[in-house]
Amino acid sequence: MAKKQFKAESKKLMDLMINSIYTNKEIFLRELISNASDAIDKLHYKSLTDDSVKVNKKDFEIRIALDKEMRTITISDNGVGMNQEELENNLGTIAKSGSSLFKEENAPKKNIDIIGQFGVGFYSAFMVADKIEVLSKAIGEKEAYKWESSGIDGYTVNKCEKEDVGTVIILTLKEDTEDVEYSEFLEEYKIENLIKKYSDYITYPIKMNVTHRELKEGSEDEYEDIVEEKTLNDMVPLWKRNKSKIKEEDYNTFYSDKFFDYEAPLTKIHTSAEGLVSYHSLLFIPSHAPYDYYTKTYEKGLQLYSNGVLIMEKCKELLPDYFSFVKGIVDSPDLSLNISREILQQDKSLKTIAKSIETKITKELETMMEENREEYEKFFKAFGSQIKYGIYDQYGINKDKLKDLLIFDTNEYKKVSLKEYVDNKVEKQDSIYYICGETVDKIDLLPQVESFKDKGYMILYCTDYMDEFVLQTLGAYQEMKLVNISKENIDLSDEEDKKKIEEKNEKEKELLKVMEEALPDVLSVRFTNRLKSHPVCLVSSGDVTIEMEKVINAMPTDEEVKANKVLEINASHEIVKKLESLYKENQDALRNYSKILYAQARLIEGLPIENPTELANLICDELV
Ligand code: ADP
Repeated sequence: MAKKQFKAESKKLMDLMINSIYTNKEIFLRELISNASDAIDKLHYKSLTDDSVKVNKKDFEIRIALDKEMRTITISDNGVGMNQEELENNLGTIAKSGSSLFKEENAPKKNIDIIGQFGVGFYSAFMVADKIEVLSKAIGEKEAYKWESSGIDGYTVNKCEKEDVGTVIILTLKEDTEDVEYSEFLEEYKIENLIKKYSDYITYPIKMNVTHRELKEGSEDEYEDIVEEKTLNDMVPLWKRNKSKIKEEDYNTFYSDKFFDYEAPLTKIHTSAEGLVSYHSLLFIPSHAPYDYYTKTYEKGLQLYSNGVLIMEKCKELLPDYFSFVKGIVDSPDLSLNISREILQQDKSLKTIAKSIETKITKELETMMEENREEYEKFFKAFGSQIKYGIYDQYGINKDKLKDLLIFDTNEYKKVSLKEYVDNKVEKQDSIYYICGETVDKIDLLPQVESFKDKGYMILYCTDYMDEFVLQTLGAYQEMKLVNISKENIDLSDEEDKKKIEEKNEKEKELLKVMEEALPDVLSVRFTNRLKSHPVCLVSSGDVTIEMEKVINAMPTDEEVKANKVLEINASHEIVKKLESLYKENQDALRNYSKILYAQARLIEGLPIENPTELANLICDELV
């Protein structure tokens, strides 16, 4: 076959690999071993679901051979293999996982980082080799084929001799340079260390001939080289190992290799369960949201294994939507493999596992919140929206499961959970108070919060547009009502004062009416006890609050909502006297005052002024 060209993207990536100054070149071995292991997984799975494929599990293995003279490393597996077409498609184009990241504009700072942060698979071999040969025979095929490439100028695929099903990859190493000693990878000890470091948990034996010196039999000073086959990896997958023997570092390496994350996870949940359904699981909570997390392309799910064989890459039935950020694996011998995926999804055991996993995640998060607040806040920053969404999704069906995972900002400039709020309430306090706004600092300046702070109440400062929906869905927590303090009829004063203000509103009815007429935009105007130093504030009546009006109207949909606005005037403010005298002497001026006060209240709430010129003129009229 004539030489074929690599696809453009592959070329770019290859160029990167070949000319890489990336110091961590050794990861090529991990990538090739992991491909070999995947290929065996696939064959194993096939044998369990397809009667015509017969294998002996015990035979599965990956082999490494080193040849110092030829400068080659050979990695062989007896997995599914690739036919001619697959060799071309899989190795001629950069793999799906790599390419989507490569195209992704937000992919972290170019070149070098891409290699470190995401697995780049097969192509990483070009970091150490200047020639790569791949001999492969696919299951069910008669012919074997050889793919060969010496770099950027293309590759060939030709028939070749190979008896057994599987793949053999031969890397011819680059010549050593001043900076890089490629020959290092021809040393047995180096390979042994690399396998221990990166591929210890691979479930199939990775074998290599290892040489050691021994005294010659019958001799006291003569040595001979003994070559012995050695299995380099421990094989028991990490999730099946004894927790006490696993180092934090092992978990982190496993996580970053398997889930392509360059940052260590916030925490891991490693459990095994026995009983009705037995399973091992190893779950991770990432420390940041993946770049596509809040997009439609993100797919939730856990890797599903049955007795060490991967049967599903992303089993979404294992995770509820609100925990879609969790990464990890579940391995259970109780799942029957030879049923279709559709039926598996209805499987009772799977549902039992999912339920138990959900409980474990919830517990882990609750513990983190209590014991490691800093980490929890990091978690909540990354994934809090998902928890909030879970609360109001489906009319709040899951709200009770999730409510204790919420944290909010407060007037005390620290974050609290609802439980902490209730534990710290003021005596006789019967409601949980909250208020919504753009930022904590802006909320803190709102007139409505002053009197609440004065009384020593804690106020939740909700800065996320979802908060209001979340709190409305919850309605109450531990029998304390959740009360938005920017709604009408919130009055902290005692019965006597409440009565007084009612009387005042009744008495001044006519004055208020004149003001209302000047303000067609508001539902009503009235006096209030709730304010301390500010003259006016704007509150809402009914379900749609002013914050909601802002949020919903800012969304790129046609939906427009309007809050019923009530202008409240501080009954103990100087301004009241002025309004009263204007009512008697100059109602036109009273109307102008109303407009100015309303505009002030809107500004404080962060609402736009419909007619700034009119407002400017009104103020000027009062100034001259
Ligand atoms: P990835 O492993 O992320 O898919 P790679 O570039 O490492 O990307 O590999 C591309 C594809 O080539 C794999 O998805 C697989 O289908 C195939 N492949 C690679 N190595 C082997 C192998 N040893 N046996 C069978 N198929 C393989």
